[in-house]
Amino acid sequence: MFSYRHAFHAGNHADVLKHFVLVQLLQYMNQKDTAYSYIDTHAGAGVYALDGNFASKNAEYETGIGPLWERTDLPPALAEYVDLIKAMNPSGKMRYYPGSPYCADQVAREQDRLRLYELHPADSKILTDNFRKLDEHKAAQGIRSSVRGKRVLVTRGDGFHELKGLLPPPSRRGVVLCDPPYEDKQDYRKVVDMLNDATKRFPAGTYAIWYPILQRIEARNFAERMKHIKGTEWLNVTLTIRTPGPDGFGGLHSSGMFIVNPPFTLEATLKEVMPYLVEVLGEDTGASFVLETGNAATAPRAASLQQAENNPRGGLRAPVSPRAIGPGGSLRGNNAPAPRGSLRTSSRPGTPGAGTGTGRPGSPGASYTRPAGAKPVAKLGTDGPRTGVPRNTKPRRP
Ligand code: SAM
Repeated sequence: MFSYRHAFHAGNHADVLKHFVLVQLLQYMNQKDTAYSYIDTHAGAGVYALDGNFASKNAEYETGIGPLWERTDLPPALAEYVDLIKAMNPSGKMRYYPGSPYCADQVAREQDRLRLYELHPADSKILTDNFRKLDEHKAAQGIRSSVRGKRVLVTRGDGFHELKGLLPPPSRRGVVLCDPPYEDKQDYRKVVDMLNDATKRFPAGTYAIWYPILQRIEARNFAERMKHIKGTEWLNVTLTIRTPGPDGFGGLHSSGMFIVNPPFTLEATLKEVMPYLVEVLGEDTGASFVLETGNAATAPRAASLQQAENNPRGGLRAPVSPRAIGPGGSLRGNNAPAPRGSLRTSSRPGTPGAGTGTGRPGSPGASYTRPAGAKPVAKLGTDGPRTGVPRNTKPRRP
């Protein structure tokens, strides 16, 4: 039951996608003065030592934060996330990587509330200790205590279950991050059940679900099931860093973030950042991203179109954004497949191209694949003791 430890995976490409998006969600919430609640149903340990035994075992951060660390050409939104990690590594060496609770703590304001749930006894204790240390550090700087002031509450408990009692939050503003291990295939069902329930209790909430893209049957239809949750607007973004091994082995190659009630700014930001992540983190020509938005009313039509569509050039499948589909189910605009290596946009009249989009309803989905022949970006070295350790040959989380 307690075999999953996030420390083995800290800072990998999936964490980069998840934490970058999380920072974006909370920064958007900060635009209004009213307090909000951040609820982390599966919080982990909060901070990870990249040179510790767990993280250095397979050095998964080399697929994620490692290659970004010394880049000087980061898109501004991505730079904000990398700066957050640099701030916790004042020596300049990449030693610590923040988990979602720490990212949230750094972005959320004094008036906001963090409710963190972690079931693993060891990680729950580390998380509590980490926030205590953070508080001591703040106290030394004359900043008011977060934990004693009830700004941050860490609870050892089942986040799926506890969420029910927290919705709607007192201020009626909130972001929920749900990031289970998915080692137990029941997690897929639990996430969909949780979303169904939570969106009834608190329809205006923003919900961010991280998920692995794996061959197993529960994973394959997972995003499609979330797209059908009644009355929701959604955004789905996936990042693939390499072609999956023939038998599904070779480590986690792809993951996604599914956002219910995304900020309207998120789509445009992702159109700017995702091609960069594919370029820098991509390891072969299978590297790509998918970005799509929609609502439960458009999802069924979109799903069937995606399955039917075939890209004759290089066998790429360019997903159709549900928002490129009219209410009557007819396709509007040009959904011709994109050439390899270019951003795919709809030429629907009035909709902006990728990278310049407003993210407002009606904007297209986008996909991008690393150009054939492009050289993988060299891995940056860090100070962690990891050389000679074989890479994980098992997919992460199941
Ligand atoms: N969200 C964290 C981050 O981004 O830094 C990582 C979380 S990790 C992927 C999943 C965590 O969920 C593990 O630490 C695991 O112990 C914990 N967990 C598993 N089942 C849980 C449950 N039902 N409720 C709360 N935590 C759970």
